[in-house]
Amino acid sequence: MANDKVTIGNVEITSFTDGNLEMDLCDFFPSIPNENWNPYENYLTPEHGVRFNLGSFLIRSDGRTILVDTGMGGKPADAPETPWRELLDNLKAGGVSPEDIDMVVMTHLHRDHVGWNLLSRGGKYEPTFPKAHYWVSAGDWEFFSRPENLDLFDTTRTCVLPLKEMGIMELMDGEHALTSELTTLPTPGHTPGHMSIMVSSQGERGLIMGDAAHNQAQVHETDWCSRADIDHEQTRITRRALMERLEREGIVVASGHFPAPGFGRVVRLEGRRCWQGL
Ligand SMILES: [Zn+2]
Repeated sequence: MANDKVTIGNVEITSFTDGNLEMDLCDFFPSIPNENWNPYENYLTPEHGVRFNLGSFLIRSDGRTILVDTGMGGKPADAPETPWRELLDNLKAGGVSPEDIDMVVMTHLHRDHVGWNLLSRGGKYEPTFPKAHYWVSAGDWEFFSRPENLDLFDTTRTCVLPLKEMGIMELMDGEHALTSELTTLPTPGHTPGHMSIMVSSQGERGLIMGDAAHNQAQVHETDWCSRADIDHEQTRITRRALMERLEREGIVVASGHFPAPGFGRVVRLEGRRCWQGL
């Protein structure tokens, strides 16, 4: 298996997972004809579907321990058996306890990125990471907390609103310095306030990409939108500019939904931009 840890200067990034999620191709990419996937067969499952890693990244920077995204979350008691939801076990196996986390940062507020924020005990919520403050982008907070959207995205109620009530939610906007080495990079479109995180240390750079792309094919096919992208036109503009920059500047990328551990670079081979895993 590829190494689950990279270093960018003094910053250490470790990949963790909450499991995998498989989806039907025409369900997740309804506007992309099947034959357009022919050059990208190796990015699909044998059943011609898409499989997403539910990745989180643990970053050590400036003496702080930061968890980016918290997966799909614990299984409700009445839910059927599911193959995901293993983040806490996965962290434990990697020697990380919930008390170690100083900051939780969400790239955006979709359900597969906020799931383990809170635990429900006896009908009361508790932060899963008891010493952490939780960082949410101002643009996503404004959008997802609108009354009409609380019903559409119901995990905002169970995984985000209680953080605000407990006084442990922090807002980030624009290029916000999380530490001296980590800065948020607005990458809107997938959600209105979607954030990537730029890592810069000792002349080296890396990017926690978030959901600016879901499948490696989108590194080249930047116009391909999924049904999870809220604003398709803005998503295309953002993805095109981002992929061009990642290729041009040779930045190490950490992708939560590409195959685990999700580290790679955007390179050009035979005229095509493509994903090259580390
Ligand atoms: Zn996602």
